[in-house]
This record gives sequence, C-alpha cells and structure tokens, in this order.
Amino acid sequence: METNQKRRYALVTGASRGIGRAVALRLAGMGYHVLVNYLANAAAAEETLALIRRQGGEGELLPFDVADREAAERALGGWLEAHPDEAVEVLVNNAGIRRDGLLLWMPHEDWYGVLRTHLDGFFHVTQPLLKGMLVRKYGRIINIVSLSGIKGLPGQVNYSAAKGGLIAATRALAQEVAKKQVTVNAVAPGFIRTDMTADLDEAALRRTIPAGRFGEPEEVADLVAFLASEKASYITGEVISINGGIL
Ligand code: NDP
Repeated sequence: METNQKRRYALVTGASRGIGRAVALRLAGMGYHVLVNYLANAAAAEETLALIRRQGGEGELLPFDVADREAAERALGGWLEAHPDEAVEVLVNNAGIRRDGLLLWMPHEDWYGVLRTHLDGFFHVTQPLLKGMLVRKYGRIINIVSLSGIKGLPGQVNYSAAKGGLIAATRALAQEVAKKQVTVNAVAPGFIRTDMTADLDEAALRRTIPAGRFGEPEEVADLVAFLASEKASYITGEVISINGGIL
C-alpha cells in the first residue's frame, strides 16, 4: 500500500447497479478513488457516484463495454495515458449478464454474448491494468464468478461455462503474478437480491438455501473488500463462495 498522499485507484466493472455498486461504495469507504464502469445505464451510474460522494468518497465514471476489446482498450488506454504515474491497484471484474435457456435452443448470440461479457471481458480489462500492478508490486484482482460456474446449472450452460472459465483463469493468473504481491481471487455468490435475480421465484428458491434467504449485495461487497485489503495478502488463487450454505 502506498504511504505517500497519491490517490489510490480501484476499478469496478458493472458498478452502476447491484453487487458492483455495493462493492464500489465499500472500496470508496476504504479510501479508494473508484472508477465506476457500466455499459449503458448512465443514470444508475451517476447515482452510484452520488452515493460515493455522499459518504465522503471520490470516484469518476468510466463507461465502456467490457465485451468489446477495442472499446476497453480505448477507455483504459486513455485513462492510463492521462495518469502516467498512477495505477489501478484494485480491479473487480463484476460486469455480467444472464441469458438463460436450454442449450438445445440457445440462440448463438446468447452463447457468445455471455462468454464475451464474462470471459473475454476479464481479459480485455485485466490485461491493460496488470502491468501497473506488477511494476508497483501491489495489486488485487477479484473476479465475481458464481455458484453456477462451480456446480454447473441446467439452463445456464453458457453462464456456467463463462464463470467456470473465469474460475480457471483466476487460479492460473494467481500463480503467474503471486511473486509480485498481486493476488487474484474469485468470489462465487449464490442468489443475491439484484436486478439480475428480480425475475426469479424467490419464495420457491428460498427453500433450497440453508440460510433460508437471498443474500444482499452489501454482504458480497464486504467479502470483496476484505480480499481487496492488505490483510488478504496471503490469499490468492482462491474461489470463495457466499451463498447461505448451498454445498
Ligand atoms: P445486475 O444485473 O444488477 O448489474 C449488472 C451490471 O453489469 C450493471 O452495472 C451493468 O451495467 C453491467 N454490465 C453488464 N454488461 C456489461 C458490459 N458488457 N460492459 C460493462 N458493464 C456491463 O447484476 P448483479 O449485480 O446481480 O451481478 C453482478 C455480477 O455478479 C455478475 O458478474 C453476475 O454474473 C454475478 N453474480 C450475481 C448473482 C446474483 O444472484 N445476483 C449470483 C452469482 C453471480 P448497466 O447498468 O449499464 O447495464
């Protein structure tokens, strides 16, 4: 961690809503200047920024489509050029979508869209920021995966494949960069109450969750915040579940 007065930066992808917003607020509370990424929902992203400022924190909007390599390169390259002496110290790869359906009838765009957003998105965002972490010998990369990527869930072959791939990428990259004090971990939520799960039958699903309830985005954010802290320096390559006891 830096001891001088320079700003410390964190980037949260998909921070306009849900888990990403809660994570952005938590990291801002830890003193990070948070880059709030989102795809299209500018009003929600502005609200995230307003909430950060209301709690005395700092941040800025950095919209781009994580699934689009050139767009990510443009946005991140532009930011890095404008901040030549600075690096993003904490990266939370959180942006995500669900396009559920049985594989037999899955439209091509639902397969590629989900893989591009989660798996290619990880590559598009992580690669440009990794160098700064390695040079400074400090970094925290946290990938938001899913129970679906651990167990494989029917109706989510695309999503399970993307999250499973991201879990493997987490473990592989962790070993590449551990010597430089850069940790890479994954957080695997179960059912969390956000827009992404708004269409699910919560009353029925609750019965399958030992804790008997959906989780809240803030509970995920607390786990991410710990992994993003200095205290978590000896945890790397891990996948930590947060799902109310589903095994
Ligand atoms: P939400 O649907 O509430 O929010 C999704 C966020 O991702 C929004 O900020 C959205 O931006 C952004 N986003 C989507 N696509 C892109 C893209 N191509 N480029 C940049 N930003 C994008 O999702 P959750 O908060 O529920 O989910 C967050 C993460 O947690 C996801 O990776 C999801 O897979 C994972 N997860 C969620 C679970 C849950 O139960 N909710 C369970 C397990 C994992 P915009 O507002 O502009 O659309």
